[in-house]
Amino acid sequence: MSGKITKVSGPLVVADGLSDANISDVVRVGAQGLVGEVLTMTGDKASIQVYEETSGIGPGAEVVTTGSPLSVELGPGLLENIYDGIQRPLPEIRKISGSTIARGISVPALSREKKWEFTAKAEVGDNVSGGDILGTVQETPAVLHKIMVPPNVSGTVTELHSGEFTVADTIGYLETEDGEKVPLTLMQKWAVRVPRPYRRKFMPEKPLCSGQRIIDTCFPLAKGGTAAVPGPFGSGKTVVQHQLAKWSDVDIVVYIGCGERGNEMTDVLMEFPELTDPKTGEPLMKRTVLIANTSDMPVAAREASIYTGITIAEYYRDMGYDVAIIADSTSRWAEALREMSGRLEEMPGEEGYPAYLSSRLAQFYERAGVTECMGSDRRRGSLTAIGAVSPPGGDTSEPVSQATMRIVKVFWGLDSSLAYARHFPAINWLNSYSLYLDTLAPWYNETYGDGFMLSRSRAMSILQEEAELQEVVKLVGADSLSATDRVTLEVAKMLREDFLQQNAFDELDSYSSYEKQAALLALILSYEKYCREAVSGGLSDVQKLFGVDAREKIGRAKSVTQDKFASAYAEIDREMKLQIADAAGK
Ligand code: ADP
Repeated sequence: MSGKITKVSGPLVVADGLSDANISDVVRVGAQGLVGEVLTMTGDKASIQVYEETSGIGPGAEVVTTGSPLSVELGPGLLENIYDGIQRPLPEIRKISGSTIARGISVPALSREKKWEFTAKAEVGDNVSGGDILGTVQETPAVLHKIMVPPNVSGTVTELHSGEFTVADTIGYLETEDGEKVPLTLMQKWAVRVPRPYRRKFMPEKPLCSGQRIIDTCFPLAKGGTAAVPGPFGSGKTVVQHQLAKWSDVDIVVYIGCGERGNEMTDVLMEFPELTDPKTGEPLMKRTVLIANTSDMPVAAREASIYTGITIAEYYRDMGYDVAIIADSTSRWAEALREMSGRLEEMPGEEGYPAYLSSRLAQFYERAGVTECMGSDRRRGSLTAIGAVSPPGGDTSEPVSQATMRIVKVFWGLDSSLAYARHFPAINWLNSYSLYLDTLAPWYNETYGDGFMLSRSRAMSILQEEAELQEVVKLVGADSLSATDRVTLEVAKMLREDFLQQNAFDELDSYSSYEKQAALLALILSYEKYCREAVSGGLSDVQKLFGVDAREKIGRAKSVTQDKFASAYAEIDREMKLQIADAAGK
């Protein structure tokens, strides 16, 4: 079925004569066969968003429907790959057409040449259905790829072979109830705009350990949860996301980059393959799929990239893995949505964004969760979604930030004034939040005893008090403060400098285990306790307490290595107790 173009407006093409086409169908546009997707249909007239540059395409050019929706290929070879928004493998394309993507180029997402060693696990005669595991492929040293029966397929295995196969080779057959013979391959396809099925969802109840103290201790994210990192340019969004990609205790990371400026995506493309996975010592790419929207790609591909990414993430979740998807930045994605909506001449909502902005954002974050996967072994997987938001001028009252905040459960608000003061990560402890504290509390209590949550609340209230006291100091000066208040200010300063600040580029401080975080926090609060005891014992010259040697050691405590911190902190605590007692004249 083919139609003719009647109008071209940037990435939007209108064509008629397409009565057979459906919304979401992929079409090929013009002589070069540019990839497009039908957005709306009125009669036989289709509005199509084209994922490639449309210059040179004009009225009269042909549009052919493929009859199938925008889909991704899922199978071994996704990891370590770098894709564009519609899953074209950028390294492969670069080999063919150089650094810019030639239009209409068609390269399969998964290599048709590479052979994978498949080990069959299912047996002939097994009755299997969607999600059941047929066998495995060691995709990278870090990840065992489980080859699953595609959703919506079931039957009896009549043939299944271990051996070396490409993703397109037939590895065996299923016979369905109707006697139909279905060939099995290492690869399956899935339409990106349809969430992949699962059995049921659970409340997330385990934290995603990121090794970042302000995140894990103060505003924890749950595995299977949702989080947003809003922040103005230069406030450290990229560093936070890299740290999450690098240190999070998940099996797979899908990183979607919608570059802020032209060169930014290139940075990610250059930097990411350089990073090493601290746990395995292997390149981080061995557990990562990168989706990159470089600036020379039209906005429409950005719009699709979010769906491409989350579908790949769901596929690994379906294997029973913990997956994190990091989208940088959803603001760029929303702008793409706005541009397409404008060209479709839809009624604009707030600031020109379409009225469906929040529902689209919600659809993305809703695909996160802890799930019981399809398949009879009832395995569980999780998909954690983290989106950066880059509000213009850092003003989070704009529509994308607001819509995101209504959906996500964790908010790490980056602050340009903290970044300016070189307090990193520049996550503002006063306006950030995590709504997972209650659901995670049982896990913390079981794993670390109830002391951890108590310390956390104590620390948060000291920081809150500090903010209030600073207002007082501004009005009447520091001299008016009582000894008790001065202790509060000093401890708050320690919390900020010695606990919350964490240098991503310092080898010893880049990652902090939960145990170490808990111990460091306990140490600072222990200092507080000794000071309070001294003050209630009648000491008024608090400066004496702040000058003790051990106080300075706390400042360096975050750099003590994982194997030494327990004894080192205990030693500091002992010294501190003696020195404070001494300073208090006891
Ligand atoms: P954004 O992506 O918001 O524009 P970046 O993530 O590029 O900002 O951060 C800007 C700069 O801030 C970085 O180049 C780095 O010098 C500094 N920075 C951010 N986070 C940290 C951190 N955790 N530790 C040390 N430096 C940081």
